[in-house]
Amino acid sequence: MSVLTAAPDSVVTRLRTAFTSGRTRPAAWRVQQLTALRALLDGHRAELADALHQDLGKSRTDAFAVEVDFVIREIDGLLGHLEAWMEPQSVAVSGCPAGSTAAVHNVPLGVVLVVAPWNYPVQLALLPLAGALAAGNAAVVKPSELAPASSALLARLLPLHLDAEAVAVVEGGPGTAQELLAQRFDHIFYTGSTAVGRVVMRAAAEHLTPVTLELGGKSPVFVDRDAPLAHTAKRLVRAKFTNAGQACVAPDYVLTDPATARALEPELVRALHRLYGPDPSTAPGYGRIVSTRHFDRLAGLLDAGRTVTGGTGDRDSRYLAPTVLAEVPADAPVMREEVFGPVLPITEVSGLDEAIGFINARERPLAVYAFTGNDETRRRLAAGTTSGAVVFGMPAVQVMAPELPFGGVGASGTGAYRGLHSLAAFSHRKPVLDVPFRSGPRR
Ligand code: NAD
Repeated sequence: MSVLTAAPDSVVTRLRTAFTSGRTRPAAWRVQQLTALRALLDGHRAELADALHQDLGKSRTDAFAVEVDFVIREIDGLLGHLEAWMEPQSVAVSGCPAGSTAAVHNVPLGVVLVVAPWNYPVQLALLPLAGALAAGNAAVVKPSELAPASSALLARLLPLHLDAEAVAVVEGGPGTAQELLAQRFDHIFYTGSTAVGRVVMRAAAEHLTPVTLELGGKSPVFVDRDAPLAHTAKRLVRAKFTNAGQACVAPDYVLTDPATARALEPELVRALHRLYGPDPSTAPGYGRIVSTRHFDRLAGLLDAGRTVTGGTGDRDSRYLAPTVLAEVPADAPVMREEVFGPVLPITEVSGLDEAIGFINARERPLAVYAFTGNDETRRRLAAGTTSGAVVFGMPAVQVMAPELPFGGVGASGTGAYRGLHSLAAFSHRKPVLDVPFRSGPRR
C-alpha cells in the first residue's frame, strides 16, 4: 500500500490500528525502528545531502553535520536512555490505605503527528520522529512542501526502512496539513512559524490533543561594553549566517550601546570576509533563500538604518548577501518581524537596563544571547528576561546539547524535546496504584 497517495484519514486509521494492536509498545520494536532509522540516514547520506543541496543550496559539510549526523547522534542518545525510561519508577505513597504500592509507568501516547518546516527539512522531521518512536508511538510525518526534494526522499525512504503499518509520510502543503489536523491524534508536534502555530493549536483544541509547538521569534543578542569584539563577531556571524540565516535559533538582532556598535561593525565585516571570502555568492558554505516569496520578503526589510555590508542579491538564484544594518530604529519593519534570513540589524540602547526593558517589551524569544565578561550582567539577563533559553558566549550552540530541553516559551513555543526530554514529550507518565483488599500486609 502506498502511503504517498493514501488519504490522511485512512493513514491515521491504519496507524491507530497498529498502535491499538500493541505492536509499537515493546522495547524490541522501538530499538528496531530507531536502528532502522539510523541505518537509513547512514546508508543514504549522499542522497540526503543531494536533496538538501537541491532544496537549500546546503553544503555537504552542513548537510552531514547539522542534518544527517545530528539525527544519528540523537538516535544513539535515545537508544542509550530507553531501558531506564521504560522501567516503572516505584513511588512511596501517602494518603492511601496501608500496604498500597505505586509506580509511575512511562507509556506511549498513541498516534502522533509531526509537521516539519523547510529550513532543516531532514533534521526537523526526523528528530521528533525518533522521539515519538523511542516512546513507542505510531507516527505520521508531514514534511515541508518548500523543501520538495527532501520531502520526496523521506516519503520514499521511511516506509521502506521503518514499520509501514505504524509510520507514514504524507506529503503536501498547508491544505494537506489541515486535512491531517482535522484527524484525531494523541499528540501533535509542530515546528514552524508562530502564525501557523496558532492554526495548529486551534485544530488540536477540537480533539483536546496536546501539542508541542516549536516556533520562531526574534532572539536578541546583547553585546556588552567589555565583550572581546573580534571573538564576538566571529561567533555571531557563524550563528547568524549559517543556512543563510534561516534557523530558528539564529540571533535575530543585536542590542548594544553606540560606542560598542561602532567598534563591532568592522569586526563583523572582517568575520564575514574570513568565513565566506570576498564574494559570498561563490562560497560553498553560504546557502540560498528557500523561495522567491521569502527572498522578496527579506528584500523588503533591507531599507532600514545604515547598511554596513551586503544589501545586494540576485532574485533569480535567490542569493542574498550577508547583510549588517546599523543604527536601526526599533520600529523599523526588520525589528518588528522575525528576520529568518541573512540580515543582522543592530539597534542601539544605552546599556543593560534598556536592553532588558527592550527584550521584555516584546514577545518571548526562543533564546536570549549575550556576549559579556560580567557575572552580574549574566545573572541579570538570565533572571530578568523570559525566553526558551539563555546562552552566553556562543549563540545557537544550545541545539548541540541533547541533555538540555529544547523549546520556546509563549510566542516562541510550548513544550520541549531532545534526548530524555523527547521521551517525556511523547509519553504519558501514568501512575499505577495497587491498593490491597485489606490493610496490613499485601495480598
Ligand atoms: P511554516 O509555518 O510556514 O510551515 C511549517 C509547516 O506548516 C509546513 O509543513 C507547512 O506545510 C505547514 N503549514 C504552512 N501553513 C499552514 C497552514 N495554514 N495550516 C497548516 N499547516 C501549514 O514555517 P516555515 O516557513 O516552514 O518555517 C519557518 C518558521 O519556523 C520560522 O518562524 C522559524 O523560526 C520556525 N522554526 C522553529 C524551529 C524551532 O525548533 N523552534 C525550528 C525551525 C523553524
